[in-house]
Amino acid sequence: MEIPALADLLDLQDVDLEIDRLLDQRQNLPELESYKTANASRIEAEHEAAALADELKQMSLDLDKGEGELELTEIKLSETETRLYSGGMNARETENMRLEVQQLRNRKENMEETVLGLLDGKEELEARLAEAEAAVESARSGEQALESAIGQAWREIDLKVGRFEARKSDIVGAIPEDLLARYEKLRRTKEGVAVGRLEHGQCGGCHLALSTTEQNEARESDPPLCVHCRRILVM
Ligand SMILES: [Zn+2]
Repeated sequence: MEIPALADLLDLQDVDLEIDRLLDQRQNLPELESYKTANASRIEAEHEAAALADELKQMSLDLDKGEGELELTEIKLSETETRLYSGGMNARETENMRLEVQQLRNRKENMEETVLGLLDGKEELEARLAEAEAAVESARSGEQALESAIGQAWREIDLKVGRFEARKSDIVGAIPEDLLARYEKLRRTKEGVAVGRLEHGQCGGCHLALSTTEQNEARESDPPLCVHCRRILVM
């Protein structure tokens, strides 16, 4: 004869195992692993874009400075040339001025080269920054898609857990407190399986066979315990 409370324990265990399974599923969603990767990629992409933006900012400052200096040199050159061509100087002064014009022309050429180089560099950096920003956007949307998939999966799991929890509290009401405490303690040490039904002479917990003598021995305790695994035996 089956003791009713023990049969309830089996029902309770079914529900508890379902809850365990759902919580395990909740914690080990494959999307969580992908999310970690997506999150790391997004952060890396952001760092790269930020570094390029800094580099571009610095290059723009250098370019502004170069263009300003070039403009001043052009003004100076034009003024010096005007003075040189307007004449009225002695030979020595004219020679000095001619040399100054030559120096200013050289300086202007060098500066033009520098400015052109900076313009090219800036253009290249702008293109790289645009690419990096697109990569950030794509990483971010991948991350968000995973976030919402995880949120959705969690809500569904939580809903199921909630239903099992409600069933659990119905069942628990019918089980004596000391038996319940024993069940909970066993569950902690026996991988969640505290109760086994004896079927065809086999313990449902450890699946080992119990001889008639062992079955009688199991019956001697209250509740009956499997002689092999010490789980509660429903017989
Ligand atoms: Zn057993």
